[in-house]
Amino acid sequence: MWTLPELPVQRELRRIAIITSGGDAPGMNAAVRAITRTAGSRGIETLGADRGYSGLVHEPLRPLSMSSVGSILQRGGTILKTDRCEAFMDPAVRLQTADALRAQGVDALIVIGGDGSLTGAHHFFADTGLPVLGLPGTIDNDIVGTDDSIGFDTAVNTALEAIDRIRDTAHSHDRLFLVEVMGRSSGFIALSVGIAGGAEAILLPDEAVNAETLLARMAQTRTREKASSLVVVAEGTDPTYTTRLAADLGAQGRPARACILGHIQRGGSPSGHDRVLASVLGASAVDHLQAGYSDIMLGIREGAIARTALERIGHERKKLPEAWLALASTLAS
Ligand code: ADP
Repeated sequence: MWTLPELPVQRELRRIAIITSGGDAPGMNAAVRAITRTAGSRGIETLGADRGYSGLVHEPLRPLSMSSVGSILQRGGTILKTDRCEAFMDPAVRLQTADALRAQGVDALIVIGGDGSLTGAHHFFADTGLPVLGLPGTIDNDIVGTDDSIGFDTAVNTALEAIDRIRDTAHSHDRLFLVEVMGRSSGFIALSVGIAGGAEAILLPDEAVNAETLLARMAQTRTREKASSLVVVAEGTDPTYTTRLAADLGAQGRPARACILGHIQRGGSPSGHDRVLASVLGASAVDHLQAGYSDIMLGIREGAIARTALERIGHERKKLPEAWLALASTLAS
């Protein structure tokens, strides 16, 4: 159970705007619902902009009501839709956007998204002074200041379901499978899925392991006695890496199949963990705005709500926990 701080009301709010931005993540809807219902229960209106910053810049906001956010808790994706918006990189556009929001009676903005979206939120506040609060919404879990981001747990479970099935086939055919999972350059999904799926090896982003190194690494573990094996590969930045590695393994006399899980990991109904995380963070976002906070992201650390300056997010890289790396290696040996 996560502890929520009780905060005194310091700021009068009439209207909060909400966007979901960057890559979609399961649980974003649960956060929109929690914000809307928490705000609504205090007489504060919420408005949604469609397609992230694009909607905020170019389109009118639409009201969200207690009932309009009904039946979305269990839905993946985001009812507000999401997008990337080049125009928002321009400070002049951010100023115009803040003026338009103020003209509509909006006192604050909540941004649910990844590190890019949260960095944009910081610039928006720095340029315009309109209070902004961020929530970490990304399957990649690559945001500093929080143990988990909204969507990560669901993506891990989705990838695991696929891995368990692939393992059945690997076992039946005595085959080596390379399973590529998402997570951009961060490796959090790969490490979690590798541990939870009992992978014989995990290839993290930027490791650039070649066929010889992988075979040598596997030869040092129990894998040498096994005909079937499963290696989890983080997607990294080279989209051809996993298929090339499988071909190179074949050329080295160890045939392997590449299986790229791709976008099936992004959608789907959010896990219980993600629904609770999004609900707690969404409700606490309203508390924090009312208490006068701005320019921060809320996350979860050591069982409690944690606040991180939005400015930090674009500058710091979240590191994979050393203990988990050691654990993955011990369990595969
Ligand atoms: P994610 O939030 O998933 O990391 P992106 O990095 O694509 O996704 O960022 C989403 C959007 O956030 C961008 O299209 C842009 O509108 C906005 N954004 C990202 N970085 C900045 C920045 N430095 N300044 C202003 N806006 C930004």
